[in-house]
Amino acid sequence: MEFFGHVIDGQERGSLDGARFASVDPWTQQPWAEVALGGGPEADLAVTAARTAFDEGPWPRMGFAERGALIHRLADLVTEHAEELAQADSHDMGKPITDARTKDVPRTAQNFRFFADHARLAMAETLPMDTGHHAYTRYEPAGVVAAIAPWNFPLMLESWKVAPALAWGNTVVLKPAEDTPASATILARLALEAGIPPGVLNVLHGYGPDSAGSALTADPRVDRITFTGESGTGRVITGAAARNLTPVSLELGGKGANLVFADADLDNAVDWSIKAVFTNAGQVCLAGSRLYVQREILDEFLARFVAAAEALVIGDPRDPATQIGPLASETHYAKVRGYVEDGAGKVLTGGLGDGWTVRPTVVVDAPADSAIVCEEVFGPVVTVTPFDTEPEAVAAANDSPYGLNAMVFTENLSRAHRVSAALRAGTVWTNCFFVRDLRAPFGGFADSGWGREGGNFSREFFTEPKAVVMAITP
Ligand code: NAD
Repeated sequence: MEFFGHVIDGQERGSLDGARFASVDPWTQQPWAEVALGGGPEADLAVTAARTAFDEGPWPRMGFAERGALIHRLADLVTEHAEELAQADSHDMGKPITDARTKDVPRTAQNFRFFADHARLAMAETLPMDTGHHAYTRYEPAGVVAAIAPWNFPLMLESWKVAPALAWGNTVVLKPAEDTPASATILARLALEAGIPPGVLNVLHGYGPDSAGSALTADPRVDRITFTGESGTGRVITGAAARNLTPVSLELGGKGANLVFADADLDNAVDWSIKAVFTNAGQVCLAGSRLYVQREILDEFLARFVAAAEALVIGDPRDPATQIGPLASETHYAKVRGYVEDGAGKVLTGGLGDGWTVRPTVVVDAPADSAIVCEEVFGPVVTVTPFDTEPEAVAAANDSPYGLNAMVFTENLSRAHRVSAALRAGTVWTNCFFVRDLRAPFGGFADSGWGREGGNFSREFFTEPKAVVMAITP
């Protein structure tokens, strides 16, 4: 069985006590890899390596062009090793191999290239003062970054944190989710092969509470914590960070509302609404899992939507034709199964499938206060609710503790702008979904997070902006 170790100070290694855990392939339900199980002592080693590399090593002192070239080299290697990386995520969490090959891995390479270029080309403020002084801003690396990642887009979301952190001259300890450890170790191996110095990108494996994750967030030598995961975990991490006053960026849960107005292009709305909730078996923070459809088109929409949901191919993640694989773990399957079986509303199509799969499930008539409507299911489950007026649709969409994203389908330009402004969500997509400009802010309102990442927003978080003010002698 393949072994994936921690990568600390340029060495791939086991834990000090030799502890390991198994990564279970949710399709075969069998272990497919063994992984080093880290805790406090390994977190200490990883942070020491990152600290030393930051305080004494060349990385933060390199020019943007030199650092950027190494990050581009890493992107090249990600592309060269695309199949190995795609297989790792697919075995770890049941991601359909076609999604891993065509979306996650290319986007990972793109993240590295984008942030390398963004940092190299970034401008900084110059502030001509009329007092005989001159001021400007320097964006200096923050230091040691702890990056704690979830399991739903393992490699891709790790790169979303690691790429800007590295590009701005920080050193990193990356803790992947325990369900998806493999691609992080491969990434760290590739970073060394690319020539990124030892200690700059460290990988620490282990669990969250009372384990590698909590040890990392409690360490006062960490200068930034960037976390993506559940809102509850975000609260715990924020508590730990507060003790050291460590700045935290939180990308948390979501319960995306998707508003389809009667004037929408129905083919387009159905197509995107299917992708919005069933991609990655619904294990997407951005999932459009609350669908609101204007009453006059409800029957027509539902007929097309249910037919499209039933046409999705469920099965072996390694089959290139598969669109929906199993849920990522037995624990997560049990959670989603609970929502499917709780009986709120009427199931038009879907339900439990073989093994740990759940078929695309469409639920109507669920009460607005039922768990399936209010809570993040994180599975291929959507509730569909009719509405009559635009204000009613906006109010329903905003009636959530989450505010990560929303979708609007309408051909009415004024309505599109009006509703986009009224929705309390970090991203609003109109007549599309998932389209990203990496310069744009990404993050959520309310329980969906703290802060934004992407472009300059990542720079703000991963640097210490410094004001330099000088007197000009008359
Ligand atoms: P999770 O919160 O259970 O775990 C995420 C990571 O945090 C894992 O690496 C875990 O080991 C670690 N962790 C857990 N407890 C910890 C602790 N006390 N201290 C330090 N680390 C700890 O989340 P998950 O189940 O892996 O991911 C699914 C969640 O992530 C969903 O809620 C989803 O919406 C959210 N998510 C959000 C975004 C976004 O960009 N907003 C993107 C993807 C996923």
